[in-house]
Amino acid sequence: MQPIRGLHHVTAISGPAQENLDFYAGVLGMRLVKKSVNQDDPGTYHLFYADAEGHPGSDLTFFPWAQLAPSRDGHGLSTEVSLAVPPGSLGFWAGRLQRYGVRVGNAEVRFGEHVLPMMDPHGLRVALVESASSLGRPFTPWESSPVPVEQQIRGLESARMSEAKLDQTTTFLESAMGFRHIGTENGWLRYGLGEGTSGQYVDVRELPAARRGAWGTGSIHHIAWRVDDDAHEAEVRQSVASAGAHPTGVIDRFWFKSVYFREPGGVLFELATDGPGFAVDEDPAHLGETLVLPPWLEADRAAIEAAVPKLTAPAHL
Ligand code: ZN
Repeated sequence: MQPIRGLHHVTAISGPAQENLDFYAGVLGMRLVKKSVNQDDPGTYHLFYADAEGHPGSDLTFFPWAQLAPSRDGHGLSTEVSLAVPPGSLGFWAGRLQRYGVRVGNAEVRFGEHVLPMMDPHGLRVALVESASSLGRPFTPWESSPVPVEQQIRGLESARMSEAKLDQTTTFLESAMGFRHIGTENGWLRYGLGEGTSGQYVDVRELPAARRGAWGTGSIHHIAWRVDDDAHEAEVRQSVASAGAHPTGVIDRFWFKSVYFREPGGVLFELATDGPGFAVDEDPAHLGETLVLPPWLEADRAAIEAAVPKLTAPAHL
């Protein structure tokens, strides 16, 4: 099997869309590269934040389901997403987050890297990681960001998952998906793909006594992994099916093609192709400025536009 390339995107559940936009595009300075709707629930936005070009592996996306109850911590969930920032930038970030009243935790060192954990306005755990290896990743700065280029978020760094039975998940990661164990620290096991550097690993821990976690506002909905193209996606799909997962068929998300399955502990995974990408239906200079719908939803545009709340650009903070 060709190796999975790393994280493609992470999707989480937020509260009200405007507050989500104000935080990720305003406070964190990411670019809103796509403003669309949840294709299975078109009355809800699907908002994508990324680097200026929306490179695969740089995007954090949200379903603003403000009516949901808060998420419940527990096993079978991904419980934190981390974002790569340049080495030496956490001082800048700590000051910026404090200025906007963000709930920031104590600075930590994880596997030798400086980390600043925080919580977004709707309870999602987000960590900024000073990631030296992120400097070698494809990255296009967002010139209109309120955050200076030197400190901008460079993409997804990783995610954390909590499991009732660690072994079944780690065996699946290794045998069906090609991960390898990189290291263990403070109860967290790091599993990597390829070089195991920025955007190519996940941290897993066992939480045997905990309840099953549940989705809600502030939770991660799924973690998507990069495959090159249709053939590669089919190959990985076959591999996870042989290992006992129950993958969906291929679903055309228009900007990429997706397959979904749960790993044995219950975390929802997706495979997503690198192409065709976010510029397939918008001028790269104007990504995210208007509501974009996949062709099969265009007929419903008027009803969809009436159903979703109006969004205004975040004030440049
Ligand atoms: Zn997805």
